[in-house]
Amino acid sequence: MHQTDKIQIHDLSFVPLLSEDEIRERVAAIGQELTNHLAGKNPLFISILSGAFVFASDLIRTFDSHCEIGFVKLKSYQGTRSSGDVQTVMGLDKSLKDRHLVVVEDIVDTGRTLHFFLEHLRAQEPASITTVTFLRKPEAAQFPVQVDFVGYDINDRFVVGYGLDYDGLGRNLAGVWTV
Ligand code: 5GP
Repeated sequence: MHQTDKIQIHDLSFVPLLSEDEIRERVAAIGQELTNHLAGKNPLFISILSGAFVFASDLIRTFDSHCEIGFVKLKSYQGTRSSGDVQTVMGLDKSLKDRHLVVVEDIVDTGRTLHFFLEHLRAQEPASITTVTFLRKPEAAQFPVQVDFVGYDINDRFVVGYGLDYDGLGRNLAGVWTV
């Protein structure tokens, strides 16, 4: 998409936060660390849809050893119980037992999504779980989750681009933009 100083999506106006070039370098560095950590183990990358698809697609191409990738969609149900909503996992058709897993998230905000998903994965007895998130909002963290690799810690402001959307738009922006 054409780069400018400011973009308008629906009712919000966004300014640049991370450029395409700096993201490319950062993702390559994480890919290198993951290679050092997991080379020769044929890890299974699991990308949480939809937001993480761009990051996951770049990340696996910086992983310099054999690997596999799968995609999951997490569906939330607004429960009637006070314990909050229940989620189901769709799309994980492979056996995870004794596999080395790399969970790829777009952004960890409260940590709720990752917390739930990690519990689901641990129950299937993988050999190891490595968690990677492109962005993290540290001040907002409410659920204690293990995140092994973080692309960028950012402020608690809404962002779009590099797979992340605002009401459906903005996923195709090469950089990250903030309100
Ligand atoms: P959590 O479960 O950690 O609270 O939130 C994670 C999910 O919230 C992300 O996968 C993403 O879908 C959404 N999210 C949180 N912050 C942002 C943001 O700044 N921009 C966008 N586009 N999505 C966000």
